[in-house]
Amino acid sequence: MPNSVLIINCGSSSIKFALLLKDQNFRIHGLAENLGTPNARIKGVTMGNEPVDIHIPNADHKEALEVGLSRIANHKPDAIGHRIVHGGKLTQAELITDDIIDIIRAATPLAPLHNPAHLVGIEATRRLFPDLPQVAVFDTAFHQTMPAHAYRYAVPKYLYTEHNVRRYGFHGTSHAYVSERGSELAGSYKKGGWLTAHLGNGSSTCAIWNGQSIDTSMGLTPLEGLVMGTRSGDVDPSLHSFLAKNLGWDIYKIDKMLNSQSGLLGLSDLSNDMRTLIEASEKGHEDATLAIEVFCYRLAKSLAALSCGLPRLDGLFFTGGIGENSAFIREKTLSYLPHFDFNFSKEKNDSLKRGTEGRIDAGTGPQIWVVPTDEEGRIAQETTLVVNQKMSTSNVKKSQAEITTA
Ligand code: AMP
Repeated sequence: MPNSVLIINCGSSSIKFALLLKDQNFRIHGLAENLGTPNARIKGVTMGNEPVDIHIPNADHKEALEVGLSRIANHKPDAIGHRIVHGGKLTQAELITDDIIDIIRAATPLAPLHNPAHLVGIEATRRLFPDLPQVAVFDTAFHQTMPAHAYRYAVPKYLYTEHNVRRYGFHGTSHAYVSERGSELAGSYKKGGWLTAHLGNGSSTCAIWNGQSIDTSMGLTPLEGLVMGTRSGDVDPSLHSFLAKNLGWDIYKIDKMLNSQSGLLGLSDLSNDMRTLIEASEKGHEDATLAIEVFCYRLAKSLAALSCGLPRLDGLFFTGGIGENSAFIREKTLSYLPHFDFNFSKEKNDSLKRGTEGRIDAGTGPQIWVVPTDEEGRIAQETTLVVNQKMSTSNVKKSQAEITTA
């Protein structure tokens, strides 16, 4: 059973890593950024909580991992968990083998920015730690319980059967963790009907019934759904042909605009950062005020829509940087849901301290909770589960072999 799990979250030019030590409930974090450029560096904190900033000009993923991990050499991990955005149709975390690598590679057209970077990270850690078990934990896996009427698009069937065009959903580790922890706090662990709102730079909602995802706001890619930091969320699909026909834009330009120049940034023409927008709005910045209003209205609309999938609504969980920290956004969102019998407590909402979990309704109607997410903890937990299963399976095989040869 692993005592320490290294969590790797590999982007195209960055790696977030964290070492979680089970016994001491202790974590060490690091971030390698600008990889492959002269400005590549590693930032983090030492065991003694000292800040670290190491310049590693032109380092690639493997070099960055070598340098980063040499700083925590006293704590060699027992297992490695990789966060993988797209796992295609895989329904759970998997031990990384050549076959699983092929499946991650095959899902690349569905996550072209993320999956190739994850493969680079897997390749690097496999070379650095050839003897360690490594596990892939997929953002999409939790949503594989969605029924077909939630995951199918109303487009010709062959696009689904031959090209896998369907809704997958993302942020699965966060929705899974938050709904489990939240329902536990509410005294009905993995029971009943809940909505989760993961609100950060990327945002999504999810409807969960008895611990299983039954619908979510993101779709084929993480662009569908809510207004996000720089992502538009839902737009009329004809926007693409409108821009192509009238402005002569090609698909790459449209993709870039919708993913990197839209959302809060596009609406406000100021920033993708909610804190900055709230401050600007307080000083009278009209576009910042509008961006916040659109964000909250569209979020409320998504929660109301997802509630259709639930036989019963027991409550709502807020999480993510915005959901955990902004009493203002929580209050504004709930003001757009007056017909759900939420009995919101302004006093409890305002008094909740940053990063703490707590209930913010007045005790009647569907419950409302703030539940800080813990994606790293969840990845470590899933990695441990898969490694334990593998060890018990190989022990069973060993004893069967011993019986056979005895
Ligand atoms: P995440 O991607 O989960 O780290 O969340 C990042 C987002 O959380 C950014 O838009 C931040 O501005 C926002 N955020 C963090 N703290 C606050 C706060 N106190 N009030 C409003 N937004 C916040």
